[in-house]
Amino acid sequence: MRKLTKVIKIGDKLIGGTNPILIQSMTNIKTSKTDLVIKQIKELESNGCDIIRVSILDMDDAKSIKEIKKETNIPIVADIHFDYKLAIESINSGCDKIRLNPGNIENIEHVKEVVNLCKEKSIPIRIGVNAGSLPKDLELNANNMVMALKRHIDILESLNFYDICISLKANDINLCVKAYELASSMYNYPMHIGITEAGLDYSGLVKSSIGLGILLYEGIGDTIRVSLASNPVNEVTAAKEILSNFNLYSKPTLTVCPTCGRTEYDLIPIANKINEYIKNIKKPLKLAVMGCVVNGIGEAKYADLAICGGKNSGVIISHGNIIKKVDEKNLYNEFIIELNKLIKE
Ligand code: SF4
Repeated sequence: MRKLTKVIKIGDKLIGGTNPILIQSMTNIKTSKTDLVIKQIKELESNGCDIIRVSILDMDDAKSIKEIKKETNIPIVADIHFDYKLAIESINSGCDKIRLNPGNIENIEHVKEVVNLCKEKSIPIRIGVNAGSLPKDLELNANNMVMALKRHIDILESLNFYDICISLKANDINLCVKAYELASSMYNYPMHIGITEAGLDYSGLVKSSIGLGILLYEGIGDTIRVSLASNPVNEVTAAKEILSNFNLYSKPTLTVCPTCGRTEYDLIPIANKINEYIKNIKKPLKLAVMGCVVNGIGEAKYADLAICGGKNSGVIISHGNIIKKVDEKNLYNEFIIELNKLIKE
C-alpha cells in the first residue's frame, strides 16, 4: 500500500500523495554548456523523463538555467552544494526546484534569504542526505543518516518552510533501505528514492532494482532516480521497467521466454525489435514472445498479444485465441500490425 505523502508542486508536475511516481534523471554535461545540455534534456524528455536535475557549480551554470527553461518543457531541478548565492541565481533564472541541504550553509541569514525566495516563487527544496557526506560527528549508519536529515529539516521547519522533498541515498542497499524506512516512519514529506552510485549498466540496474524494489513494495517513493554510470537515457528506461513491474507505470510489459532446445525460430531479434517499438507506448498491454507451443500457448493465454513460434513460422495469439499463422520472416511485421490495432482501441 503506497504511503500517502504530502503533495508538492515542481513546475507543472505534482509529486506525493496519489500522484504517479515521477521519473528523474540528471544531465552529465557541465550545465553552462547550454546547447549540449538542452539537447540532452530533450532526448531524456522524449524518452519519458519527467524531471531533470542539473549540477550548479558556478554562476555560469546557474545563469544557463534561463536558456534551458526556454528551450525545454520538463521541470528543472538545480543541484547546489554550500553556496547560497548559486541557489538565489538558479531560482531567479527560473529553476523549478532546488536540491540544497540548508545545514551546509553556515550563515542562517543566507538560508533565510534562499527560503524566502523559494516561498515567494513556490519553489520546493529537496534535502538530499548522502551516506558519503554525513557530518563528521555522525558515524555512518541508518539512524545517523536520518539524524542528518532531521537537522536539515529542522532548519527549514523553523523558518516555516514545508515545501520539502527528501532523499537518503547510500550505495549499500541495506543501509539505504533502512534509512528510507526510518525517515518514512517519521516524516510525511514526499520521498525521492534512489540507490546512489549504483554502478555500470548491468550491475547498477540489478542493485537499483533490488533496493528500489524493496522500497516500492513497502509503498515508499514518490519520485525515482536510477543512478547508472551510463547514458542518462538508460536511467529513464530502467526506472520505467522497475515501476511497470509494480504496475506503477503505464507501459506495455513484454514477456520473453529464455529460449531452449525446443526453440525453432530466431526469437531474440524479434523480441528486441518489439521491445524497441514499445518503449514509448503508454498503454499497459501484456505482450509475449514465446519460443514453442509447449509453454508458449499457456503463457500467451494471459497476453493481450503474443507470438508463439514454431519451425520457420509462428502464430499470433490474442488472449489465447490464434488470430494469424505467419511465416517467420513476417512475424514481426504482422505482430506490429495487430499491436497498433490494440494501441488505437
Ligand atoms: S517456451 Fe518453449 S522454447 Fe521457450 S523456454 Fe519454454 S520450452 Fe523452451
